[in-house]
Amino acid sequence: MEIHKDYDLTKLNTFGISVSAKFFIEIHDKTDLENLFDTPEFKNNKKLFLGGGSNILFTKNFDGLVVLNKLKGIKILSESSTDVVIHAMSGEIWHDLVIFAVERGYWGIENLSLIPGTVGAAPMQNIGAYGAELRDVLESVEAYDLESGKENKKKVFSREECLFGYRDSIFKNELKDKYFIFAITLKLSKVEKKNISYKILREYLENLYAQTGNKIVPYSLKDISDAVGAIRKSKLPDPAIIPNAGSFFKNIFVEEEKLNELLKIYPNMPYFEEKNGRKNGSKASVFIASVFKKIPAAWLIEQCGWKGKRIGNVGVHNMQALVLVNYGGATEEEVKNLAESIIADVKNKFGLVLIPEVNLI
Ligand SMILES: Cc1cc2nc3c(=O)[nH]c(=O)nc-3n(C[C@H](O)[C@H](O)[C@H](O)COP(=O)(O)OP(=O)(O)OC[C@H]3O[C@@H](n4cnc5c(N)ncnc54)[C@H](O)[C@@H]3O)c2cc1C
Repeated sequence: MEIHKDYDLTKLNTFGISVSAKFFIEIHDKTDLENLFDTPEFKNNKKLFLGGGSNILFTKNFDGLVVLNKLKGIKILSESSTDVVIHAMSGEIWHDLVIFAVERGYWGIENLSLIPGTVGAAPMQNIGAYGAELRDVLESVEAYDLESGKENKKKVFSREECLFGYRDSIFKNELKDKYFIFAITLKLSKVEKKNISYKILREYLENLYAQTGNKIVPYSLKDISDAVGAIRKSKLPDPAIIPNAGSFFKNIFVEEEKLNELLKIYPNMPYFEEKNGRKNGSKASVFIASVFKKIPAAWLIEQCGWKGKRIGNVGVHNMQALVLVNYGGATEEEVKNLAESIIADVKNKFGLVLIPEVNLI
């Protein structure tokens, strides 16, 4: 187990920001992790657990210990004729877990195909896409208390205890930086349970069906996973080609009254109903089980003229206004300034405050 000093993190964040960590280590198994707890570098420094680095923006060099999580292993814990409970270690690549499920005919995470990053980061923001979220299938999260770091301080959080919300959880709020997510368990269905409520996904599949002369119905588990993959590839820039961290901002949730006010001025403003949403910016513990309206942040940003705009080495992607991109050599300052300008413009025009989805480190 080697602890490196002044380690370059450029290739370990999908934004491609050139920063370094004072200390850096890669962990491959439970022994590496538990040995790490006893080192002075762990005890005396702030820590950052890193998965795929696809949901962070480094705002400066990290003056502490970065731990790259490579804990692997996926196994079936139990199964019945209808369900299966899967245990996945946190350093597994999320999409590898999706493939594991799809290949075996387990329904529940196919709509989350191709989301970059690791299994352990998935509960952090309750990953979601195409009408599905992690919380729909998550059973529990196994995590180490970083203050004690001892095995007997390992805690299992039930789904309810995770206080999931829209791109939110207890791990992003009250328990921020307090736990290392070690593994998760998911309950998936062995019985067909397709979720094609999301318009773009449904239309894509209907179009495929039409192309076969309405003969081959393309709604198998693999068809849905492949469709999600194809749609994502057509809409989102690949970080390997144009460095980015996916959606930089969260969508906005407003109460009916605010929505109606806005609709009077912007009658074409798109909005969606979102049940069990949580108010933007509220603490994870303040779970508001009522109906909010979701306004796509991409639309707000586009209305302020930012879509496709470039300033120096950074810009807003020309196909997806929620994605900020690094055209090469961008500094953390450039990204921060761009994000702040967008937030200010949206606030001035609509009176709404955009909240970053990306973790600023
Ligand atoms: C092109 C692109 C598309 C994306 N599309 C989506 C999408 O559709 N839906 C969606 O929800 N997200 C999306 N994202 C965001 C991102 O993929 C997810 O948030 C993902 O879960 C991040 O995983 P990661 O391993 O890269 O996390 P990292 O960026 O490495 O870490 C994110 C945060 O989680 C913490 N963390 C990571 N692992 C652990 C752990 N084991 N224990 C404790 N804390 C931990 C880190 O310290 C950090 O604060 C997209 C990103 C990109 C680049």
